This record gives sequence, C-alpha cells and structure tokens, in this order.
Amino acid sequence: MKPSPIGYVRATSLAHALDLLAEGDGEEKVLAGGQSLVASLNLRLIESPNLIDINGIDDLHGIAEDGDVVRVGALTRHCDLMACDIIARHVPILSEAAPLIAHAAIRTRGTIGGSVANADPAAELPACVVALDATIVLASKTDGERRVMASDFFLGLFETARRDDELLVAIEFPKIKPGERQSIRELVRRSGDYALAGLAIAGPTDAPRLVFFGVGDAPVVAAGAMAVLADGGSVDEAALALEDDLDPADDINGSAGYKKHISRVLLKRALSGDRQSDAA
Ligand SMILES: Cc1cc2nc3c(=O)[nH]c(=O)nc-3n(C[C@H](O)[C@H](O)[C@H](O)COP(=O)(O)OP(=O)(O)OC[C@H]3O[C@@H](n4cnc5c(N)ncnc54)[C@H](O)[C@@H]3O)c2cc1C
Repeated sequence: MKPSPIGYVRATSLAHALDLLAEGDGEEKVLAGGQSLVASLNLRLIESPNLIDINGIDDLHGIAEDGDVVRVGALTRHCDLMACDIIARHVPILSEAAPLIAHAAIRTRGTIGGSVANADPAAELPACVVALDATIVLASKTDGERRVMASDFFLGLFETARRDDELLVAIEFPKIKPGERQSIRELVRRSGDYALAGLAIAGPTDAPRLVFFGVGDAPVVAAGAMAVLADGGSVDEAALALEDDLDPADDINGSAGYKKHISRVLLKRALSGDRQSDAA
C-alpha cells in the first residue's frame, strides 16, 4: 500500500521543531529513523500527518558523560549504541540490547528516541530504560525541558507520558556501579524478529530490577520476583513469583501460559550464574 498525502517540514533547529509542534493542529508526527513510522504510514494506520523531520537537529545527536550520568541524544542510532565505548563501559546493557533489534539496515536508521517514544511493548530499549531507572528528557516551547522517570513514562500500548507538543530530546542513564549487573535475554523465532518474551536486568547483583518485555502492554516490572530476591530467596522462588507479576495475553505468538513459561526460563537462565537454580 501507499501512504495517504503527507505534509513534510525539515526542522532546522530544536527551537524550530518545538515551534512546529506548538503551532500544530494535532496531526503532527515527528520523523526520526522512520523505521516504525513509515511502515505505519504505508499501512495507513496513520492518515495524512504533517511530518516534522528532526534528523537535521544537531542538539539531538551525541553520547556524553555528565558526572554519574550518561546522556544519550534522541537521534542516537541503534548502531551508534553498539559502537560506543562510553556505552560499553557505563551502560553495558545498551551495547547488548542494540544488536538484538531487527537487522543491520534498520539499526543504521532507527533511533533510541524513536524506539522509546514509540513504546512498542515488545521492544528492547523501553524495557532497558525502565530497568536502568533512566530519565526521559522532553522539551516543549511552553515549558522548556521536563524530566520524567522511565517508570512513569510508559502508560500502555504505544502510549507514553509525552504530550503532543513535546519532543523527546535525550535519555539520561545512571552509570553502572561496582557490585551491579546489567544483562538482557530474549526468545525470538528468527534472528531480528521482535521477541516472544524478553527480560532486562539491572541493579545490585543480589537484588536487581527485573523488567520483562513482550508480555504486557508496556514494560512489566516484576515486583514480586524482585522482592523475593531482595529477601534472599532463591531463583526458583523468584520464578514462581512471576505467576502473579505477569499477565500476558494470548496472541498469535502463543498462549499466556507459554509466555509465562518462557519468562520463567529466561529469569532462571539469566540469574543461574549468580544463585542456585533448577534447570529450566
Ligand atoms: C522489520 C523491522 C523489524 C524491527 N524489529 C525490531 C525489534 O526487534 N526490536 C525493536 O525494538 N524494534 C524493532 N523495529 C523498530 C525499530 O527499532 C525502530 O527503529 C524503532 O521502533 C523506532 O525508531 P525510529 O527512529 O525509526 O522512529 P520513527 O519510526 O521515526 O518514529 C517512531 C514513533 O516515535 C515518534 N518519535 C520518534 N522520535 C521522536 C522524538 N525524538 N520525540 C518524540 N517522538 C518521536 C514518531 O513520531 C513515531 O510515532 C523493527 C522495525 C522493522 C521495520
């Protein structure tokens, strides 16, 4: 299919983009890598939008250290995450997650800002930002910069706390500290597919944050399993707690029971090096 007629403006600066969003009539769509948006246009899931192309905005590029934080610009491509030493040293889960996203061609265009703003519940990076307790930096003409904790950002299926007049400009990640771990696991049918289920882990080795993806409308924090680990419980006891933590829907990828089973296996495999666990 071909898209319906599209309006298009290439923003020349951050201020220009924020002006366009503020003056818009609600039909504006930010164009970053286009790897999700263009497919939605071609399928006519979105009709006749006014595209605001942000690719020419220098302020949205770059990865920089700022004290205990690494600030990643919204236009950072997935391939940039894979190649960056700062990321490998201080936020290693992002180096591990980026190669799991789609295929090389998509990773050269797709951006971290686009992935997080899009809020696909099966995507890797939204789960990582929640596991890392990252801060989403939004900007608008009326309010300037606004910071939202990742745990408050994802509201539901493709739904976030970003207002229509706001641009996601960056994400701030706390640097990994001694005694902490970060890792990501997922199950896919074929390399490059969205995950049937996945797990992002970050935080103290004994009591990390556990955030699942592909098993709900948004990244799912497994609070019960986390509490079990924090109380010194075993990996098997934490896996049992997922029964109450997760409530996936039956869909074409499998039944709810199957997805819960995969999630338990992912948790056991991810933590089996740290604590005693039965074979999955
Ligand atoms: C075949 C295929 C397989 C894929 N597999 C995976 C996968 O396994 N895992 C995965 O995570 N993703 C996957 N993707 C999606 C890919 O990662 C996209 O890059 C990502 O979802 C969106 O990033 P983008 O920069 O292309 O955003 P766009 O497509 O340009 O935008 C996506 C949405 O976010 C909004 N947006 C973008 N940037 C901003 C911003 N800075 N501020 C506010 N709103 C913004 C847009 O308006 C749009 O609504 C796949 C895509 C394809 C085509």
